[in-house]
Amino acid sequence: MKDKEQIEIIGDNHFSTNVETPLTTNAFVKSDDEKIGNIQCHFAKIMEELGLDLTDDSLSGTPYRFAKMYVKELFYGLDPKNKPKLSVFENKYQYKKMLIEQNITIDSSCEHHFLPITGHAHIAYIPKDKVIGLSKINRLVDYYAHRPQVQERLSLQILKDLQGVLNIKDVIVMITAKHLCVSSRGIKDKESFTTTIEYDGEFNKPKIRNEFLKIIGQEKILSSALN
Ligand SMILES: [Zn+2]
Repeated sequence: MKDKEQIEIIGDNHFSTNVETPLTTNAFVKSDDEKIGNIQCHFAKIMEELGLDLTDDSLSGTPYRFAKMYVKELFYGLDPKNKPKLSVFENKYQYKKMLIEQNITIDSSCEHHFLPITGHAHIAYIPKDKVIGLSKINRLVDYYAHRPQVQERLSLQILKDLQGVLNIKDVIVMITAKHLCVSSRGIKDKESFTTTIEYDGEFNKPKIRNEFLKIIGQEKILSSALN
């Protein structure tokens, strides 16, 4: 176990060590129901330690609700069995220009504080032989977001998967998100947000990258003008 000061430093810097989510080898040996039962017990202990009276009607169901929410909702994306099927199709239209899926909702959690990360992902690729159903991109983002995450890793995991299924390098993933651990604790900055941008292939060319950024930017200006 690292000393407490080092633990704080890692948390506040949101330091990530690997593209893969660090998992134990036996991460999925237990069933979801078994995990929910165990987490329920552990969380009841945390609540008791905080001095909360679990016999109160309002609190008595909280450990179960908390455990179920963790396993089935917030962190369902840890389990590979929940990964969406990324069916791809032959590029029959021979559309070979940039395809952008933007304003995809990001609902994630910071792995250092287990607090929400919320924002948007904007993703583009330049198809060759294969195309992917548009909603599959949203589903892939949702899957990787529902893990304890760091934003950089989330961007990379999405990028690498799309490159793999489409068999191309030409993918860009941009995420803008607010981190509750920055806005509600620590520095308590309510206004700042974090942008990560990962890309490869054609998007290494500034002209192509700027085309993407321009479209994303224009959309932002449009939506703020409309609201
Ligand atoms: Zn955090």
